[in-house]
Amino acid sequence: MLDELIGKDIAITPITGWSSTGVAFAVARLDQIHPALSGNKLFKLWYYLEQYRLGSYKGILTFGGAYSNHLLATAYAARALGIPCVGIVRGETPRVPGPTLEDCARWGMELRYVSREEYRGMTAGAAAHGAPAGPGGYLVIPEGGSGETGIRGAALILPKIEDIATFTHIVCAVGTGTTLQGLDRGLLPGQYALGIPVIGVPPAEQGPYLDSLGCSPQTTVHFGYAFGGYGRRTEELIGFMRSFYAMEGVPTDFVYTAKAAFALRDLATQGYFGTGSRVLLLHTGGLQGNRSLPAGLFEY
Ligand SMILES: *Cc1c(COP(=O)(O)O)cnc(C)c1O
Repeated sequence: MLDELIGKDIAITPITGWSSTGVAFAVARLDQIHPALSGNKLFKLWYYLEQYRLGSYKGILTFGGAYSNHLLATAYAARALGIPCVGIVRGETPRVPGPTLEDCARWGMELRYVSREEYRGMTAGAAAHGAPAGPGGYLVIPEGGSGETGIRGAALILPKIEDIATFTHIVCAVGTGTTLQGLDRGLLPGQYALGIPVIGVPPAEQGPYLDSLGCSPQTTVHFGYAFGGYGRRTEELIGFMRSFYAMEGVPTDFVYTAKAAFALRDLATQGYFGTGSRVLLLHTGGLQGNRSLPAGLFEY
């Protein structure tokens, strides 16, 4: 079943409304793979799931917030494969779990709530020590499916896109950076990747942040599009999402893909892309995260 999903063709939607002479824009619709296993998440999980299959673990353990696309994708994949799984959730037990955690629980994920402090310690530990757990223990997947195993999975994305060689620039939202790191590995000569961080990175930390990604010179990161930080939004961003959907028919989520699309339009308006450029925005999914917003904001 997961093989079928990862084998699906990825549709390309042209963006027609950003009339920048001599530049073509399009969106790769990874959001259409599946509502729960959407976007980049199945790819990042791919080799972790293989590792699980090849090892002798008692289950999978991973991390996320209350609206985490990664937790949802993991819960769904684990259920499809019959793998026991544990989700460590950032923040105290809510009085009423939101729809994302409700789905996770319904699909059999055991949820363990930890304080933000404890969460920070645990995720840092998982990132530092990587995936291996003792035989018979849980396979620990770092937050967001990051780490080398996740990067290798993300590198599967570009080769799946038909005519990928005709694009000069590939743009994506950056959370952990795993997807961008994966893209970076598969760039052809003369092809560039642009990452848009959705977390605020203060100027003094931008250098170390870039270094930590360890990407090639073909990959750049464009700061200033976090709209106040991770999970934050402004009226301007919501307005952009509404008009982008009205004009192009492409739904976005406010945490990741809306910020990447906004940044791309902004860069286009500034004349960042030279004549003849063909620019592909990766729609990395995550639409379910909009369930944390008041109902009725969007027509999708
Ligand atoms: C998780 C996620 C990202 C971030 O991917 P990273 O590999 O962590 O940088 C981007 N977009 C969406 C929709 C996501 O759910």
